[in-house]
Amino acid sequence: MLKHLIGKLFLRKCDFEYSKMNKEKEDNLCWFHGKITREAAEQIVIDVEGSCEGTFLVRESNTAVGDYVLSVLHEGEVVHYQIRRHGEDAFFSIDEHTIIHGLETLIEYYQEDAHGLVTKLALVCKKDPPPHDSRRHGRTNLLHRATKEGNYTVVSELLKCGYRSLEAKNQDGQTAVHLASRLGKDDILKKLIESGANVNCRDTAGYTPLHYACQSNLPNTVRVLVQVGYANIQARNSETGWVPLHEAASRGHKEVVKVLLSLNAPVNPRTVANDTPADLARRNSHLECARMLRNYKSPPPKTHKKEWYHGTLDRNEAIALLKEYGNRDGTFLIRYSDRNGGMYVLTTIHAEQPYHFQIKTQDTYFFIDDGPYLDSLEHVIEHYSHLSDGLPITLQYPVPPKPKPPVPEMPPSLLLNGSSTLPSRHALRRSPNRSPVSPASSAGVSPSHSRRGSLTTNANNNSQLDKNHNTESPPVPCSLRVPPIPPIPLLPETRSAPSDFISREALVLGQVLGEGEFGSVYKGKLLTTEGKQIDVAIKTLHQEHVDANRDEFLREAKVMMGLCHHCIVRLIGVSKGPPLLMVQELVPLGSMLAYLLEFPDRVNPNYELKVWASQIACGMKYLEEQRFVHRDLAARNILLASRHQAKISDFGLSRALGGGQEYYRATRGGRWPIKWYAPESYNFGTFSHASDVWSFGVTLWEMFSYGKQPYGEKRGVEVIQLIEKGERLAQTPSCPNEVYRIMERCWAYQPKDRPTFNELMEIFSSDPEYINIKELVLESTIS
Ligand code: AMP
Repeated sequence: MLKHLIGKLFLRKCDFEYSKMNKEKEDNLCWFHGKITREAAEQIVIDVEGSCEGTFLVRESNTAVGDYVLSVLHEGEVVHYQIRRHGEDAFFSIDEHTIIHGLETLIEYYQEDAHGLVTKLALVCKKDPPPHDSRRHGRTNLLHRATKEGNYTVVSELLKCGYRSLEAKNQDGQTAVHLASRLGKDDILKKLIESGANVNCRDTAGYTPLHYACQSNLPNTVRVLVQVGYANIQARNSETGWVPLHEAASRGHKEVVKVLLSLNAPVNPRTVANDTPADLARRNSHLECARMLRNYKSPPPKTHKKEWYHGTLDRNEAIALLKEYGNRDGTFLIRYSDRNGGMYVLTTIHAEQPYHFQIKTQDTYFFIDDGPYLDSLEHVIEHYSHLSDGLPITLQYPVPPKPKPPVPEMPPSLLLNGSSTLPSRHALRRSPNRSPVSPASSAGVSPSHSRRGSLTTNANNNSQLDKNHNTESPPVPCSLRVPPIPPIPLLPETRSAPSDFISREALVLGQVLGEGEFGSVYKGKLLTTEGKQIDVAIKTLHQEHVDANRDEFLREAKVMMGLCHHCIVRLIGVSKGPPLLMVQELVPLGSMLAYLLEFPDRVNPNYELKVWASQIACGMKYLEEQRFVHRDLAARNILLASRHQAKISDFGLSRALGGGQEYYRATRGGRWPIKWYAPESYNFGTFSHASDVWSFGVTLWEMFSYGKQPYGEKRGVEVIQLIEKGERLAQTPSCPNEVYRIMERCWAYQPKDRPTFNELMEIFSSDPEYINIKELVLESTIS
């Protein structure tokens, strides 16, 4: 039966003619010697009859699967060139820049001219034609003909007896799968797939079988190719960049479009000319199809940012994380890079190599290189988890962001004895770094002296503050809490003594971190009883300041002693000295103000700044619950533990509120940071949570202006005049409108009209503009 059928098919006149015509060409193609060794190849090239300059053969590479090697004779020596395969299809190159479709086309190219080789290819060492899967063109064979005729019986008989030319290409570079797909011969197509035929090969024109099924309006064939053969739904035509959906849409084949979308094809792939399928449908007047594509809503993604989004992270940090996570192929994360004005980057691993892909945005879309426009970062991950679509690998193993309590919480055992009765004195406070208000000027301008008489009346006014500043605020959301960390024991003598001071011997001073008002701040090490060393910051009091400022120094320690919150710098203890030292948790990135001035390009107003703002508000809300007023909230007094964690420091001016009192009244002026002070503070010397909110507003202004000096060079007296006239700090270009409106609320003249820290924390941590900050930053404080 088979013999009969084959005979019938072969006995066609045109076939004979075609075979004859191509015989010569095919002979010229017989340079392929299979998998032979380098030595064997050299022997053949040298020994072949008539061997001359340019005599050559091609063999399979012994080192890289899918690659080939060209061995060519040049000046009596055999030179070998690796022919590298690109992707799964038949694209090859010898040098980086010349990638050629089809091994036979590549050899023809180097037969025409040396094109950079030592010599052009001349005499063929004859053996076999190259394998089908390496070729661009071929000859029509029996399988092609049977497929074209839709003769299922012949095809299945051929396949049953192990027909070897399954991948063979005809003169158009098409395989039997191409033909079956173009003609909708679904039963034959299934048989070919079942026998292991490649469904993703390209013909001379760069089309895969799926392109043809779409062109031919064959929804069922499309299903067979994708669902049975796992055809690549995003295969791009090598020249035009058209994917199957472009083919269907440009012809208005609505049913095929629907099938492709139901099989997870992205709705907005782009051609080389940047056309989407909807563009093509509209251009060809298939308006209904265009409308259908435009109105199509991609299914909601199943993946979530918290599984892989890390916020700001540089390349090296990302690589280190992927390595830590096992470095397997397809391990990935998304990060925000602050280079070039900021962008999202996908970092993934393939063959132990990291790859970084910029995720660009266009209108509301996200995309990688010439890949499809996708609706969100989640859609990007979903898409590239199904399909590699141009990436070296599909995304498989998300690396979740690490919980980020950046500095270990210090246990009470490390703190000074809570019952310590440190002497208290009125503080003499240094002026802020950038806007010194000299004692003379502040005394001169401070209306607190002249208006002191009105203090009592104002005290009554201030009692209205209570209503706004209810200390019974709702509990801190659990996402903002930090779990307790087990105690780290100190050297015995450092904790056994009733005074609980840290022994000087337990401390090692390192480099200077910064200069404080009364001494330097050092990086240092603290030795624990277990022999562990903890990195710490050590604040010193210079000898010349000891007499005048020892009390203030100790007051700061006393305030800090009772505080325990991840948004507040932790005090570890005090060493009596001399010199007197205050040991605090080390906050590695130091002052936020210095960071803003030094690295503005690393700080995104819609990410870092809002995260920090929410953390400062969170720390202040905690301070309010502990019934402390800070009185010196400013950017210079915020430290950064990481780009994801800000902490409030400098409690030298802080005061506890007396029982039942809702404000603290200063009985002396001092070197006050007037530019940060609310009207009731500079007018009447009263300080409350609401006056801290005013300072928070000024701190926000400093942050969103990237470290500008509030009110420029103006002196304190001028600032007061300006505020009293109803003027406020102006909005800077980098400050978003909605943030400026919050600042304005913080600067309401009447304290009761200002927002509370609880409200401010809520506003900043649930700002819809900043991508999952609540989960990323605040939740990440839970380990
Ligand atoms: P201060 O005494 O707060 O004015 O500190 C002066 C400078 O020392 C700050 O601006 C920081 O750069 C640095 N500094 C203070 N405390 C710490 C800390 N706990 N960790 C790291 N750096 C600190």
